[in-house]
Amino acid sequence: MSRRTPIVAANWKMYTTVRTAAELCQALRENIDGVRGVEKVICPPFVFLALARETLAGSSIKVGAQNVFWEEKGAFTGEVSPPMLADLCEYVIVGHSERRKYFGETDETVNRRLKAALAQGLRPIFCIGETGDERQAGRTEEVLLRQVRGGLDGIEIGPGFVVAYEPVWAIGTGVPATGEMANEAIAFIRRELGSLYGGALAQAARIQYGGSVDGANIAEFMAQPDIDGALVGGASLKADVFTTIVAESARL
Ligand code: PEP
Repeated sequence: MSRRTPIVAANWKMYTTVRTAAELCQALRENIDGVRGVEKVICPPFVFLALARETLAGSSIKVGAQNVFWEEKGAFTGEVSPPMLADLCEYVIVGHSERRKYFGETDETVNRRLKAALAQGLRPIFCIGETGDERQAGRTEEVLLRQVRGGLDGIEIGPGFVVAYEPVWAIGTGVPATGEMANEAIAFIRRELGSLYGGALAQAARIQYGGSVDGANIAEFMAQPDIDGALVGGASLKADVFTTIVAESARL
């Protein structure tokens, strides 16, 4: 059994309002603050980061953003820089497939965001994953390799670095990968981290599975040796379901 501390992150995407974000933070504080053996991160929309930070202050639950721009400041209307996030959150999701799909994110721009986030002391959750067509065509490993090498080009990772393996075809579809399938891809990613950074850093990296995780299937993923938690979208908006996912992910 791995000694890595699993990490479960809630990606709220573009959901919640001031009221529902506050209620969800409060409920999660009551439900999961005391769960040990798993790191817990809530990633609300930018506009609710301060609210989440205040509501979760003094708890064991960390806050993350869903994206970050690479410039420090300037005339970039609508963007949010690493220094702006530094006082609001600890983590930041980078390279989510919805950003790649709808906002033109590439391995190169993901790489710039990762570098800027790390330089600011933020902890990235680096997302990668193949599309359904790529898997059908037998190109999963080639795609993962390209995303890992491109995204991490010129970057030194530290112990506990977080990668989220999220097959695009499983995100928001209600059709998750099987535990075995996810473990195979994650073990492949870990081997590639090993060739880039050496065995110790690769073994210490936390690699999450993401894609239609819910309270009923999380145990199947956590039973796999290489899976270190989950990045959870839809199911993270329901306090009771996310509570189950966190509890089932604890590795004591
Ligand atoms: C995600 O947004 O990263 C995700 C995995 O979404 P869902 O859990 O809804 O598939």
